[in-house]
Amino acid sequence: MEEMLLVGTGNPHKLEEISSVLSDLPIRTVGIEHLPPCEEVEETGKTFEENALLKAAYFARMAAGLAAPERPRWVIADDSGLCVDALGGAPGVYSARFAGEDCTFSDNNRKLLKALEDVEPEKRTARFVCVICCVPVPDDPRNAPPALFYSEGICAGRIALEEAGKGGFGYDPVFVEETTGQTFAELEAERKNHLSHRGLALLDFRCKFEALSGS
Ligand code: IMP
Repeated sequence: MEEMLLVGTGNPHKLEEISSVLSDLPIRTVGIEHLPPCEEVEETGKTFEENALLKAAYFARMAAGLAAPERPRWVIADDSGLCVDALGGAPGVYSARFAGEDCTFSDNNRKLLKALEDVEPEKRTARFVCVICCVPVPDDPRNAPPALFYSEGICAGRIALEEAGKGGFGYDPVFVEETTGQTFAELEAERKNHLSHRGLALLDFRCKFEALSGS
């Protein structure tokens, strides 16, 4: 029987990216529409690992309630954000709401550029971090999930003096990727996905997953 991996995200782009990286493995990837209606998981963790685990464990509990043929064998969820050295690692796990609850990507970028106004170019170092947590689904919702594992991807760069580029989302227009010298928003989507924290975390995940599942 074909095994299933559930990707615990409401973001269709993430599901697509993850499915495409794993497309040649003998596993079917499904999104959260495979589950009964889910609540939004509150990201109350202080680290990327804690938030990824909160999300993966919640979706694994939901998946454990499904009948055997429809029950995925694994659930993954990720958490990511931007860590800026001159700000002591902020916004980090608060990246989505750096400029406040309900803020837009532009609000966040404006606040970030303002916070770094007096910081010289060589001190504007930063990195995007992505952590994926993979949880095996227990065959009964009352059982604790068996051993889980994490994968991590880090992409180094620096914060630009002003926004550049039209692609991507979030902090892409202000994040200059180290090896290309271009902002993520200036790079082709495929190139960004290849270099990005999420792309690197996915590669790490793929290696560990292949070893674990024997695929
Ligand atoms: P999430 O955990 O992947 O939803 O990311 C949280 C926040 O981090 C997003 O709302 C963005 O502000 C920021 N972020 C994460 N990944 C990226 C990226 O690839 N480009 C730009 N911003 C990102």
